[in-house]
Amino acid sequence: MKIVLASSNKHKVQEINEITKEFCEGIEFILPPEGFDPIEDGMTFAENSYIKARAAWEISKNWVLADDSGLCIDALNGNPGIYSARYAETPALRIERVLNEMKGVSAEKRGAHFTCAMTLIAPSGDVAYKTEGVCEGSIVESARGINGFGYDPIFLVKGGTRTMAELSEEEKNKVSHRFGALKKVLEYIINNKLYE
Ligand code: IMP
Repeated sequence: MKIVLASSNKHKVQEINEITKEFCEGIEFILPPEGFDPIEDGMTFAENSYIKARAAWEISKNWVLADDSGLCIDALNGNPGIYSARYAETPALRIERVLNEMKGVSAEKRGAHFTCAMTLIAPSGDVAYKTEGVCEGSIVESARGINGFGYDPIFLVKGGTRTMAELSEEEKNKVSHRFGALKKVLEYIINNKLYE
């Protein structure tokens, strides 16, 4: 079964296919056709994942899965949240902005989580399933680690001592918000026998 992943990010397709392979055989995520460029103007992760899924469905009329994710920090009233990708111009500047805004915040108030919302649309155009995955943790005082992307170097996974950027890809894929959401989508597909 091929599912269009509503993203133009090759790395994301790869990551989602890696997670899927560990979970089941016979499901492959592919990039959308040319022309996929939705305006993500929703007010929640769920709304944005729906906007992306609908846009990819319009041009593919296939099974489509979209995800939308970001980092929510308690002490910053949930920011950067849906603005995670645009909190500053570059990934390094986004990290710098968060660390500056978190200056002086005590250890016990540095809680944060990554959220990932997913929407699955069927070839008929109906929303088949939607869900969210969450990864709990906290914000460290200075960036550590070189793996992953985005805010990984400043996000300490709950119950551990390493930031997400200090985890291997395999380790991250077992605890991430994307894994949490994707696992539920794959279970839905398998339990409803949507593929042979
Ligand atoms: P997207 O919706 O998955 O494209 O994510 C939006 C933004 O959230 C990214 O550009 C990153 O800044 C941040 N983000 C999402 N997932 C992760 C992650 O797994 N690690 C670090 N940052 C992430």
